Amino acid sequence: MQNKRSIVANRIVVKVGTSTLIRQNSKINLTVIKDLAHVLSNLKKSGKDVVLVSSSAIGVGMGVLGLETRPVKISRQQAVAAVGQAELMQIYNEAFHEYGMSVAQMLITRDIIDYPESHTNVMNSFQELLSMDNTIPIVNENDTVTVSELDHHTKFGDNDQLSAIVANLVDADLLIMLSDIDGFYSANPLKVPDAELIQRIEKINPEIIAAAGGHGTKYGTGGMTTKLKAAELILKHNQQMVLTNGKDPEIINNILAGEPVGTLFTKIPE
Ligand code: ADP
Repeated sequence: MQNKRSIVANRIVVKVGTSTLIRQNSKINLTVIKDLAHVLSNLKKSGKDVVLVSSSAIGVGMGVLGLETRPVKISRQQAVAAVGQAELMQIYNEAFHEYGMSVAQMLITRDIIDYPESHTNVMNSFQELLSMDNTIPIVNENDTVTVSELDHHTKFGDNDQLSAIVANLVDADLLIMLSDIDGFYSANPLKVPDAELIQRIEKINPEIIAAAGGHGTKYGTGGMTTKLKAAELILKHNQQMVLTNGKDPEIINNILAGEPVGTLFTKIPE
């Protein structure tokens, strides 16, 4: 048995990926959402500050609209995301209500980085929401207004980097990134079956970047490349990140108990 990690985390950002929230049959994984609501509500009640960053607006929208494939046209993606976001928040709302919690929808764009006034506004909102006893902010990119074109960048690009930016903004101690894989491996395990899980990464060097392959499912978007970019941002701010499998959200408690699950990205000495 590996040594326990010393993880002290009072303010936690949890990012849950599409590949965890959407089943292969295109249906939303309600069990995961309910369990996530349970674990996060208990953490909040125990006095921790919790922010959830949730992907899947497009994936959920595809399910609602009965679409088999992800639309290619940007305006279509935005419309599907708008449908999915409403459905997703309704599901989260119900799940968190079970535990006496309200949810707060925060849809944000890159403007919060580029414009000081927007930055101040979003910081103020986070501060207010985090000071509330029974409320969990749920963050997603505001897909209907974000675009990424040459002369107009309002998009973060993906929710992995968005979650790291949120963790920086709220000065979180820990970012927990829940995906459909147990951690970061020496190669994409879908292609290299004997790839090994890396327990601890202190620096995103070229060797690590080379080990990141594409995404795993038809819904996942970023794969490991965007997760490494997020990790880089976390390490730059001397924060910590754990990447692990979200199929059982109870794993969040194991992480906080210092159990060596997933891959820990940290510069803090052991
Ligand atoms: P999410 O929806 O959780 O963001 P993605 O599908 O975008 O998930 O990314 C997770 C996938 O990344 C895994 O299922 C795996 O197939 C793939 N992957 C590529 N390279 C690696 C690696 N080195 N270690 C682990 N997973 C990898």
